[in-house]
Amino acid sequence: MQSLWSDADAEAIAVRYAETAIGRDLALRVYTSRLLGGDPRLVLHGGGNTSVKTVMPDLLGDPIEVLCVKGSGWDMAAIEPPGLPAVRLAPLGKSRARAALSDREMLHILGASRLDPDAPNPSVETLLHAFLPHKFIDHTHATAVLSLADQPDGAERCADVYGPRVGIVPYIMPGFLLAKKAAEVFEADPALDGLVLLKHGVFSFGDNAREAYERMIAIVSLAEERLARGRKNVFAAAALPPATAPLAEIAPILRGACALPGEVAAEYRRFVLDFRTGPAVLNFVNGEDLHGYALEGVATPDHTIRTKNYPLIVPAPEAGKLDAFAAAVREAVVDFVGEYHDYLARNNALSAVAKRELDPAPRVILVPGLGLFGLGRSAKDAAIAADLAESWVATVTDAEAIGSFESLTEAELFEIEYWPLEQAKLDDTERPLTGQIAAWRPPG
Ligand SMILES: [Zn+2]
Repeated sequence: MQSLWSDADAEAIAVRYAETAIGRDLALRVYTSRLLGGDPRLVLHGGGNTSVKTVMPDLLGDPIEVLCVKGSGWDMAAIEPPGLPAVRLAPLGKSRARAALSDREMLHILGASRLDPDAPNPSVETLLHAFLPHKFIDHTHATAVLSLADQPDGAERCADVYGPRVGIVPYIMPGFLLAKKAAEVFEADPALDGLVLLKHGVFSFGDNAREAYERMIAIVSLAEERLARGRKNVFAAAALPPATAPLAEIAPILRGACALPGEVAAEYRRFVLDFRTGPAVLNFVNGEDLHGYALEGVATPDHTIRTKNYPLIVPAPEAGKLDAFAAAVREAVVDFVGEYHDYLARNNALSAVAKRELDPAPRVILVPGLGLFGLGRSAKDAAIAADLAESWVATVTDAEAIGSFESLTEAELFEIEYWPLEQAKLDDTERPLTGQIAAWRPPG
């Protein structure tokens, strides 16, 4: 992976923002956040976050030490200064002395520490940025790093690749305890360039925007070099029908089978489908052991609200035998929904507070011989699910090529899928014709 840093571009953005009284620190923070956000191998659709520590005037003009950190809901690819709300550093730092901090307390501290009360909520990973001392901190869910970190022996593999440059943080759900743990790992060795968060992603940091960004690129490049070596031949192909039914005949069958009864009798909740295919997707969905590696779980926790934990897998559709395919799809959807009910019941039985079930329909469908579909209530949500699914295919494929892909445990997946702070990222507004307009993007 190449660094896209350009002195000329950095200077131009600093000069342009200076005209609107945006300081150089924040301007350069916007610049490298966009560089990271523009590469789907690093982050997708609001994933990841960045920060800079600087000094800004409060509402009465007094200079205050702040952390400008990505706001929830902003996408790094198109971020602007208002997408990096300034939060007072002092109260965030003080919170670290607590033994525990509930999510509600954390949100209150974050919300109340904003310089501008109208600014967006800072990222749920804000405390991790606050507890580390560096001026610039970058966080991505780079697929190459996840292919190393999403392994049963991910810690050893990362230590092998990175040696003393990068610290390893065990999986902990995002929030206060993860922030404390990450800071402890760093403080045990302050020479680190970054941290790998197992089964989650990677942080890099530095004294300036360029250093933090280029350390991220270096960490990801080392993972890519490792993934290029010693690959085993994976995904032996399954036997497929002599001729596969065409996409135009398959998509309506899938869409119909996934329309589930809504709360009002006779009203169905329908989904828009977004189709993806190509050599990488076909290699994946055509694999003999698809039901093994594809049912392991997500590549990084925050994908789960968009893709659910597991995809629906249907049989390969044979040309001219659509009735048999439709029957098999209906049965697969019934099984998927049944398993989702069971998953909720199993995990609710272990939870202090029972969660109300989210809709149980799949968000990703794998079709051997054809490709994959992202499902969403809008075309945009369907495209997001499909983008995340393609990125997950890349992560799992590379993980399996050098070892074996391993996701979170079911309990961890449940905790993140039903975490109110994750669900808050979704816009589930029902608009006229939501889910009722069918579309898919033509391949290529
Ligand atoms: Zn993250």
